[in-house]
Amino acid sequence: MNEEKNTALPVIVLAGRPNVGKSTLFNKLIKSNRAITHDMPGVTRDRMDGIVRRRGLEPFEIVDTGGITLDANAAPTEGPDGIRGFEAEILAQTDAALAVAAGVAFVVDGRDGLLPMDEHLAAHIRRKNIPVLCVVNKVDGLEHEDEILAEFHALGFPLLAVSAEHGHNIGALCEDLAEMAKNAETRQSGYLLGRDAKPLLRLAMLGRPNAGKSSLINALSGSDRMIVSDVAGTTRDSVDVRFENDGRIYEFVDTAGVRRKSKITDEVEKFSVNSAIKSTTKVDITLLVLDATEGVGQQDKRLIDLLATRKIPFMILINKCDLIAKNLLDALQKEIRETLVFCSWAPVLCVSAKSGLHLKDIIPMASAIHKECSIRIPTGQLNRALEQALHRHQPPLVKGRRAKFFYLTQAESEPPTFVFFVSDADRVPEAYGRYLDKSLRALFNLRHAPIRIHFRSSHKKSS
Ligand code: GDP
Repeated sequence: MNEEKNTALPVIVLAGRPNVGKSTLFNKLIKSNRAITHDMPGVTRDRMDGIVRRRGLEPFEIVDTGGITLDANAAPTEGPDGIRGFEAEILAQTDAALAVAAGVAFVVDGRDGLLPMDEHLAAHIRRKNIPVLCVVNKVDGLEHEDEILAEFHALGFPLLAVSAEHGHNIGALCEDLAEMAKNAETRQSGYLLGRDAKPLLRLAMLGRPNAGKSSLINALSGSDRMIVSDVAGTTRDSVDVRFENDGRIYEFVDTAGVRRKSKITDEVEKFSVNSAIKSTTKVDITLLVLDATEGVGQQDKRLIDLLATRKIPFMILINKCDLIAKNLLDALQKEIRETLVFCSWAPVLCVSAKSGLHLKDIIPMASAIHKECSIRIPTGQLNRALEQALHRHQPPLVKGRRAKFFYLTQAESEPPTFVFFVSDADRVPEAYGRYLDKSLRALFNLRHAPIRIHFRSSHKKSS
């Protein structure tokens, strides 16, 4: 019978508002014309699914959904004739598909441009926390591709221009989706096994004594939980503090030196850069707390330096901002920015554990950094990005010759690590490396994560 159905292939969901061309795209992907494109979309029929097979790619399942119509409040709103009355049902069906999806192909219409309804749906999909490829359909001619794509960058998803009707870029689409499916397989099985288990994000809070670490943790965790053992000699032991925020569990790990003020007696707390660095290896995101009234000390600078060179995802919190005047705070921020020249990606927040200033931005920022760090960019997209970057600025001549770029691949995540295969790595000047770094960051929305870039000499195209 239909064995394929039982093999549980990874699922990619096609989603989009009505009339963006999902059904045509679906047919192109499964190489059939069984979804009648002018039929009532997604309502009276069963869920449309099929298998995408292409030579050289792992097969995956594709699920077409009805056109989704959402308003700014993420509530279903009235759709066009064919689906009127079924909007909520379509959304529910789509959500059910998304719940087990390895990724989403979010389809938009390149001819219509970015519509508010696209943005509402994008926001809805973004909340699902699964990989998204924004497929800009109805782009038939290459001439205006960049122009057409430009406005869709605002969505923050990787983009691919296709024409379902004319078959433009369908091969590239299959490749990107197959990659998405493959990368998600492990993640998905974990997700399905522990559906209700909330993901845990581990954090470290570092900084000099009295910078306000304990106060911040208490403020963030919403209670006075910094309980330290009373047994003499154990007060320096690590304490983990857990709390929940937005459906996710956060844990401040190894909070040695972070404890109740009342427990600090004559013992002189030491802020050791070495032990601080050690604790960063146990966590996802590191929060370095500076005291606005004290400025950036030598130890802080050393620590920032280490965090930067080791590509540790971190953010800086300037605490006690309630205590200093705006002009002094501006000067301090400028000084910190200068310290961060080699890691301008690290975000800096001005906060106050006491007044509550910007405290609510801390956890979302930590999550955002972590999300960026976990990114997996399909090889097809990377190589198109490479082509674009090379086209915009070709590599400079070095000793009379230019390095040839063959291929780009992401070797690792956390932090994202990219390897460029080139004819001669010695002919890639540092400045050009920085340009490529910047280009990748801009194209894939990597704003606050550290990334690594390597150049590897190779004689031929690697596969
Ligand atoms: P830790 O040693 O880094 O854990 O620092 P604490 O959290 O114990 O804070 C040291 C002192 O600074 C305490 O007296 C806090 O009340 C005070 N403090 C912490 N954060 C702030 C803040 O944002 N504003 C002000 N005015 N005082 C703060």
